Amino acid sequence: MQRDQSPTPHGTRMPGAGHAAIGPLHIVVCIKAVPKPEEVRVNLETRTLDRGSARTEINPADQHALEMALALRDRYGGRVSLLSMGPPLFIPYLRVGLAMGADDAYLLSDRAFGGADTLATSYTLAKGVERIGRETGGYDLVLCGEESSDGATAQVPPGLAEWLGVPQAMYAGAVSLEAARSGAASNGRRLRVRREIKGGHEVLRLPLPAVLSVATGANVPRFFDPARRPWAAAAHVVVWDAAALAVDPTLVGTFGSATQVAAVEQAGRAERRRVVIRGTPAEEARALATVIRGVLGNGQAAPRSPS
Ligand SMILES: Cc1cc2nc3c(=O)[nH]c(=O)nc-3n(C[C@H](O)[C@H](O)[C@H](O)COP(=O)(O)OP(=O)(O)OC[C@H]3O[C@@H](n4cnc5c(N)ncnc54)[C@H](O)[C@@H]3O)c2cc1C
Repeated sequence: MQRDQSPTPHGTRMPGAGHAAIGPLHIVVCIKAVPKPEEVRVNLETRTLDRGSARTEINPADQHALEMALALRDRYGGRVSLLSMGPPLFIPYLRVGLAMGADDAYLLSDRAFGGADTLATSYTLAKGVERIGRETGGYDLVLCGEESSDGATAQVPPGLAEWLGVPQAMYAGAVSLEAARSGAASNGRRLRVRREIKGGHEVLRLPLPAVLSVATGANVPRFFDPARRPWAAAAHVVVWDAAALAVDPTLVGTFGSATQVAAVEQAGRAERRRVVIRGTPAEEARALATVIRGVLGNGQAAPRSPS
């Protein structure tokens, strides 16, 4: 294992005024690096995304999860750890998360993890969360985006909760901590989660630790902090492989995947019709009017405004 000894610029945050009794929180945020949707192409032979043809970004939904984690840390104190599973080329995107305000970052990377479906992905991430917990004295909360912009199944967060054996709430909008009268496992506190549902909202109360997915639109993700960039660029990202996580090899990667993508198709692009009109300004105006009448149908003029 490689361990990051470099200190975070601000250290573990102290709880905000009035929240000392209920904090702090160690929050793990799952971040996936995804190809930009408008640039991605499908490799029809391998039935995978051709990542090389597209620029990569932090999955937009995960930025909302990170923002929620940072806001909770600002309020209750504690730490925010980033966790991702993918190739080493994900590391620069974890650094962006560090520059946004996270304290440390972990990447789960091994050829054996490649081709994972949501079952194998959530298992591997769960092993990562457990190891982070062991290394750091425990975790309180795991936050995910509501779905990825490439696979878009929204199955990883509930799968993660199942592997970890902890409660879950999906599409969380607002999250706060409350004092709990009972529940030693929660250390005298519990989560209050508000989530929008059709026609209203629900308020859920959960013991800690728990897994939440954060509704896109729950907040406005902050821009990275330029003052943190030098630290983020140099910070050591902890990388764990299959051996470091002591995973069951039958549960990771393609081998551990219950589903396989049988076929993918590149959607056709709608072509915009274009007409070039040339002539004098008067001829162009007449020709344009003719085109507009044709579009409106039956050669009728456009309806006049009532005034
Ligand atoms: C076109 C396409 C279709 C696919 N179809 C399926 C399918 O039908 N069934 C299936 O099982 N798999 C499918 N996959 C594979 C799936 O994308 C991967 O298993 C992926 O790693 C996780 O699933 P997701 O992207 O759907 O994540 P989601 O469940 O949509 O992601 C929700 C959240 O989980 C977290 N998360 C997800 N993946 C990671 C990661 N690698 N690292 C850190 N956090 C993460 C993020 O916070 C994310 O916002 C498909 C992939 C592609 C590219």
